[in-house]
Amino acid sequence: MSRTALITGITGQDAAYLARLLLRKGYRVIGTRRRRSDPWRLGELGIAAEIELVELDLAESCGIASALERLKPDEVYNLAAQSSVALSFERPLDTADADAIGPLRLLEAVRQALPDARIFQASSCDMFGAAATGAPLDETGPFRPQSPYGVAKLFAHWTTVAYRERHRLAAASGILFNHESPLRGPEFVTRKITRTLARIRHGSEKVLELGNLDAARDWGFAGDYVEAMWLMLQQAPVEDFVVATGEAHTVREFVEAAANRLGFALEWSGTGLDERAIDRRSGKAIVRVNPAFFRPVEAATLVGNAAKARTMLGWRPATAFAELVGMMAEVDERRMCGGTG
Ligand code: NAP
Repeated sequence: MSRTALITGITGQDAAYLARLLLRKGYRVIGTRRRRSDPWRLGELGIAAEIELVELDLAESCGIASALERLKPDEVYNLAAQSSVALSFERPLDTADADAIGPLRLLEAVRQALPDARIFQASSCDMFGAAATGAPLDETGPFRPQSPYGVAKLFAHWTTVAYRERHRLAAASGILFNHESPLRGPEFVTRKITRTLARIRHGSEKVLELGNLDAARDWGFAGDYVEAMWLMLQQAPVEDFVVATGEAHTVREFVEAAANRLGFALEWSGTGLDERAIDRRSGKAIVRVNPAFFRPVEAATLVGNAAKARTMLGWRPATAFAELVGMMAEVDERRMCGGTG
């Protein structure tokens, strides 16, 4: 008999890839969305017609338990979140409600209504925050979050652990390092880079403005990371896992890889706030630094150690950094050509 999966935040990047993976495995997939959410990503992957959509707000406890009783999922993937670190400084209360109390409401509803279901919580490398030293980080922490987003995610992480240990729920926390794709929201720096460079190539923008070019992140492909989420819920007993590539790349390296793929030849000059990149072919400055895009608190290099996932889940990222950036740049270029960029 086919299994049923419930994915919260179905309109997001990861949910689209996870839904496609689960459909391919024969699951019935139900996705929760907020009233005004746009499921465009499901359309881009060509799976919109195969997903059952339900409106569910993790801000209202009572609706969650009754939805679980009605839908009876075998597996619940909690991907809904206010997922931007930058926005969490502007909207700390909304972030705490969505990213900390929302998961608690969901876990409590699972405990009451469907205690045999397995539940995945999307945790984040931003939980490490000031504890990051540049050395690879694993499941043991330490955690010292520096943003409202990281703090809220840490609350949800420990709540997940507590429900597993105290209430015996099959609840697992995936400590996900940054993962990107052509479906990433344009407000995130990686997608901003590929989208803006594609627009510059087509003449509809002139300059890409960025904050700290030296910020380094462990960037993987979302399509690979959802595989790890699924594998985590197939374990017995379930455990927590870091999901990461183990490689850090700077924002500057991301820009270079995207620019190369789009046919620019960048030459960097200047330092600090005066740094910029000229396209040798056109002679125009197309990348420059704008202090408005610096983060209030910049984390040190965040790089993950996914040895436990490699050993216990047999998971490893299939997509290399250059391949990921190239894929994103190409899709943004195609969107520009098709008039949807
Ligand atoms: P995403 O593309 O931003 O999707 C987030 C989803 O959550 C969307 O469906 C969004 O709905 C929904 N959502 C936003 N605010 C909400 C709120 N206040 N209440 C309920 N739902 C809300 O994020 P993603 O990249 O797919 O990430 C999936 C999960 O992994 C998130 O929990 C994220 O924090 C976590 N994570 C992601 C990364 C990463 O690098 N991508 C790294 C670590 C952890 P709308 O369409 O209505 O906005």
